[in-house]
Amino acid sequence: MITTKNKLKDRIEELFALAPDCNGGANRPAFSKAEAEAMLLVAGWARAAGLEPAVDPFGNLWCLPPGDGPFVTSGSHVDTVPDGGRLDGSLGTVIAVEAAERVAGQRGILVCAAEEAARFGAGTLGSRSMTGNLSDTDLARMRDAEGRGALSVRSEYLNALERIPKLERAPLERVLAHVEVHIEQRADLRKHGLSLGIATTIAGPVRHRLRFIGEVAHAGETPAAERRDALCAAAEIVLLAEKLCQQYAPHTTATVGTLLIHPNSLTSIPGAAELGVDIRSVEPGGAKRLLDELLHGARRAAGSRGVTLADVPLSVSEPTVMDEAMVRAAESACGRLEVRCGRCVSFAGHDAQHIARTVPAALLFVASENGVSHAPGEAANWKDMEAALAVLVELMHSLQGGGNDGR
Ligand SMILES: [Zn+2]
Repeated sequence: MITTKNKLKDRIEELFALAPDCNGGANRPAFSKAEAEAMLLVAGWARAAGLEPAVDPFGNLWCLPPGDGPFVTSGSHVDTVPDGGRLDGSLGTVIAVEAAERVAGQRGILVCAAEEAARFGAGTLGSRSMTGNLSDTDLARMRDAEGRGALSVRSEYLNALERIPKLERAPLERVLAHVEVHIEQRADLRKHGLSLGIATTIAGPVRHRLRFIGEVAHAGETPAAERRDALCAAAEIVLLAEKLCQQYAPHTTATVGTLLIHPNSLTSIPGAAELGVDIRSVEPGGAKRLLDELLHGARRAAGSRGVTLADVPLSVSEPTVMDEAMVRAAESACGRLEVRCGRCVSFAGHDAQHIARTVPAALLFVASENGVSHAPGEAANWKDMEAALAVLVELMHSLQGGGNDGR
């Protein structure tokens, strides 16, 4: 007998088997052939469920109900980070397919393209393009590690999807509501005995590059008092970011994730140091407050060490507050099914936050067993995954207008 668990599991494994990497993880980079193959696989499942797959100009896969009427969508993404897990993106996608099989009538699937930022340094490319928050000019500027532009890579990806009919534009005006299910990316829900988390706010990242310029000098012959060490100034900021991250917890985070120094030589005092800072907050203005403090510290460190500072802003965004009516609808669905749920926030970015600017959207997290994310060890309990599916089916019925006519 094919149980729900086996069907979800089999489909997750089918997606995984398209492009496993040698370290035991999934490897389906944004706009790659592997992402296109995963989209084709989902399109086949959707067709069997009576939906009509089509691709919009931005590479997002739409599986539409017949006719021109409004509909409710669910879905996630099928690209992964390098050596990624089996569940990130895939879980929400296979649950959406299964929900589409169970809910009759006006329901569809929306799988957004190029969600992960690993390849081009920026993510949610499909959902941001579709909602008018990212232009082709922006895409043309983004490069992967091999120097390939995101726009031309997207053309190849679209060619790989030639078997699927093309849409002239994303049919967002027909979407009544969108629900994304996703594996939790920390380990909070389990600690509180919850199966599902309902996101109320999704943080917007603020990213800056700070460049300290000092003077390259001999490591042995330059007295301490005469040094203009750019790395020492940068090191103060790495530690300040950590301190601020602790002070501003739990609403705001700060991380120095990159550090480049010049000349990077064992016998030279570093003359240049550039660090990349990522700040995220679920409070309006929270990221800006932390950033101001960090920049103040950076100017002070530069001044006291005789080095100059250049601040290069990379991106700025505010947190997205999710639709309260959608949050309540998800809570009610959980209540009717006696699924233990709680409200939460997301510091990681998701397609749902961009879609939420155009249509009412919800983001539901399935409890993680271990908090592992973006790595092969991602794990969730089958009971929680089945609960998420049941809640999604219930929610889609209620969002369609209450007709409980599931098969
Ligand atoms: Zn994801």
